[in-house]
Amino acid sequence: MKIKFEDVSYSYLYGTPLQKDALKNVSTEILEGKINGIIGPSGSGKSTMIELINGLKLPTKGIVYVGKHKLRNNIRIIGANKLRFEIGIVFQNPEEQFFLKTVKKEIEFGMKYFGYKTDRIDERVKKDLKMVGLNKDILYRNPFTLSGGEKRKVAIASVLAFNPKIIILDEPTNGLDSTGKESLVRLIKMLKEKYDKTVIVVSHDVDTLYRFVDNVIILANGKIIAQGNKYEVFKRTDYLTENGVKVPKIVYFIQKMEKKISKKVKDVDNVIDLIKEINKYV
Ligand code: ADP
Ligand code: MG
Repeated sequence: MKIKFEDVSYSYLYGTPLQKDALKNVSTEILEGKINGIIGPSGSGKSTMIELINGLKLPTKGIVYVGKHKLRNNIRIIGANKLRFEIGIVFQNPEEQFFLKTVKKEIEFGMKYFGYKTDRIDERVKKDLKMVGLNKDILYRNPFTLSGGEKRKVAIASVLAFNPKIIILDEPTNGLDSTGKESLVRLIKMLKEKYDKTVIVVSHDVDTLYRFVDNVIILANGKIIAQGNKYEVFKRTDYLTENGVKVPKIVYFIQKMEKKISKKVKDVDNVIDLIKEINKYV
């Protein structure tokens, strides 16, 4: 399903003439079947951008194309519910939204809302737990008693439960320790590689994001300041830092290494691959 922003602006109104222009003239495309990263400092407009994708918000100006839908100001979205079905958002701190007594009920909730039949629900829940790498013993636990990483996985499973084509994760590494991040990286890669989902990850945790993202959209102050292939975009270290955007540590390290050995190092996503590359030269 195609997602395209055409000259999109969004303003929060505090009452005229006070307003906050959260997004300004944003034009971009989300790549299908890839992992897309939306990156930028706090307040740069990342969350606003994803809420425009599933029609939670409508643009103040411009058009957001989502599949067959054309989302623009002042029009009612026909089939808005269907859109929520096709695009699953895992919000920042999703565990704050848990309100049922067991993990099973929590995962089933969305499916029931979207009209899944009971016999298909059990089958689907099992599949989702497997996808996120949780054991089925967890089904009858109280969601509030789980670890941070487990809670995050349950939240992702609840969204996968209605089988959306597009999965959006807002700050998914927040509050996770290194083990939690590790399994999240594996899960996100698998959503793309094994299940052919289009994934959008919003994050300021550039070090983790760099390991799995393909296409990046960089926001600063509501504007896109760079976008495209992650290797190309992050090579512009000075430009990004001038705009308050963090650069992954691995990028700096590769640049230092290249100076030292006076050779280009092949683009890599993670430290293990980097060591393999550097070993060829030393
Ligand atoms: P990010 O997710 O990158 O931190 P947001 O999209 O949440 O950024 O916010 C972009 C800008 O819009 C910020 O300046 C923020 O303060 C403002 N903003 C966000 N939500 C609201 C709201 N409900 N009302 C007014 N201003 C808001
Ligand atoms: Mg946000």
